[in-house]
Amino acid sequence: MLTVGRFAPSPTGPLHFGSLVAAIASYLAARQVGGKWLLRIEDLDKPREQAGAADSIIQTLQAFGFEWDAEILYQSQRLAAYHEALAHLKPHTYPCYCSRKDIQQHGHMGEYGLIYPGTCRNRQQTPSTQQHSIRLRTHDKPVCFTDAVRGEYCQQLESELGDFVILRADGFFAYQLAVVVDDEFQGVNQIVRGADLLDNTPRQLYLQQLLAFRQPVYAHVPLVLNAQGQKLSKQNLAPAITAEHRIRTLLAAMRFLGQTCPTTNSFATLTEFWDWAIANWDMSKVPRIHAQAFTDDDIAT
Ligand SMILES: [Zn+2]
Repeated sequence: MLTVGRFAPSPTGPLHFGSLVAAIASYLAARQVGGKWLLRIEDLDKPREQAGAADSIIQTLQAFGFEWDAEILYQSQRLAAYHEALAHLKPHTYPCYCSRKDIQQHGHMGEYGLIYPGTCRNRQQTPSTQQHSIRLRTHDKPVCFTDAVRGEYCQQLESELGDFVILRADGFFAYQLAVVVDDEFQGVNQIVRGADLLDNTPRQLYLQQLLAFRQPVYAHVPLVLNAQGQKLSKQNLAPAITAEHRIRTLLAAMRFLGQTCPTTNSFATLTEFWDWAIANWDMSKVPRIHAQAFTDDDIAT
């Protein structure tokens, strides 16, 4: 079976070193087995989007020599497909009229955040307020998968997370639904991404089951932390990577991913780097632990 991988950034800021690491891991895992690699822009959360970020991410990926098969998919163009999935899920969903405050008052804090207490699950009457989200009913049979980096991983959705939102009260589709619908649509069967999404995976597996979609294989790669021990992100203003010193930056990302690398001057061109990287990629060397790898030296010199 042809492997189809993907990289799916949100356009909330320019590409930083942490997202480059995820892009490289997904690219090499797919290319090493002669698979396809797709690019998808997850531009559903319009309030969080930064103008120009999608184009900036695409240009940076191009400058670093990434090549994607097929046209870039934009989630903002896919609303009809999400509506269709929502209709299929109808028997398992219900409207939720709770405010954030209601949930804070009645829900308790779990390992993954506030657990929805199920307030609206069996609600008979519609409250006067019209605005509502749509939640998916969960159960407590463990949802498990084997991650290529992290090993066996399970969650009991109902008690650990609660019924979760698939259509937000502000009218935007939730990430969990969109990602599952698009992976199926694009034929993605290998998902390599940052470990911040590890605890989202059982919710996505559950959605795949309900929608009778194929289940991809997963690998969650470690996160790049800043000097304060936080995940590099657009929110904590991780510096954008620049097209200068590209091979050095790519090698820093490869080292972060546990790969044994030659020195920068072993490669005269980006093509030489990619040929080497595709031939030598080894997922079994990817560490499980998050680490700091981001120093000026890693990216700039
Ligand atoms: Zn509710």
